Amino acid sequence: MPHTAQALTQLVEDPITIEDIPRLNEELDGLEAHEIIKFAHALFGDGLTMACSFQDMVMLDIVAKVAPGMRVFTLDTGYLFHETEEAIRRARARYPELRIDVYRPAHTLDAQEREHGHRLYAHDNALCCEINKIEPMRRALDGYTAWMTGIRRSQSASRSTAQPVSWDVRWNIAKFAPMVDWSDDDIATYTAIHDVPYNRLLDRGYPSVGCAPCTAVPTDGDRRSGRWAGTGKTECGIHVASPDAVGVPGRVERVD
Ligand code: SF4
Repeated sequence: MPHTAQALTQLVEDPITIEDIPRLNEELDGLEAHEIIKFAHALFGDGLTMACSFQDMVMLDIVAKVAPGMRVFTLDTGYLFHETEEAIRRARARYPELRIDVYRPAHTLDAQEREHGHRLYAHDNALCCEINKIEPMRRALDGYTAWMTGIRRSQSASRSTAQPVSWDVRWNIAKFAPMVDWSDDDIATYTAIHDVPYNRLLDRGYPSVGCAPCTAVPTDGDRRSGRWAGTGKTECGIHVASPDAVGVPGRVERVD
């Protein structure tokens, strides 16, 4: 019988290390998302933060219920769809118990254009993501000892073996994925039952929401093929290539 979050915290020595990850996953895999969040919050307290891309807001809703006061962050590259900006406003109105911080690039898009040329994303999307996503992410996680992401195994092949907790070697902190075994139907059902806000782009056929210039509606049924379509790029670069929860090296996990 799986432990509850409360019972599990009694079994773990703080702080956890990369060596603890496999054992933790044995305990966490199969637990309800709210139990995983409660466990992570009990273990890390104010050292835990959550990233949100404001596509769906199911995890945000659960966090508001079980860990009110948690600091949540998102990255505003300057290229967000207005539907995503609207989703952030709606989330702030709906969840005043959460602190939702928005991190922006250190340099304005105008300054980037002066330095790197017009439409950086079109001629060097790696540098564009580095400047507009990875560097702000670094600041967003500064001082935190663990973070949570909404990645799910059903989202893509690269996420199909994601675990409830992993060690994020890029930032050298623990990373939790409480929604890891949720399906699209689970998300839709929870959203409807609890009247959770969501990004209106989902109604327009976007299964994966990123920056406007680099996101299209997929035409082949692959939920991520509309991201950087036709460029060969498949991820923003905010990922870890790490020994993960089950010791498989080189796993890549996206957070956007
Ligand atoms: S997703 Fe596109 S626009 Fe957004 S930061 Fe990356 S390259 Fe730039």
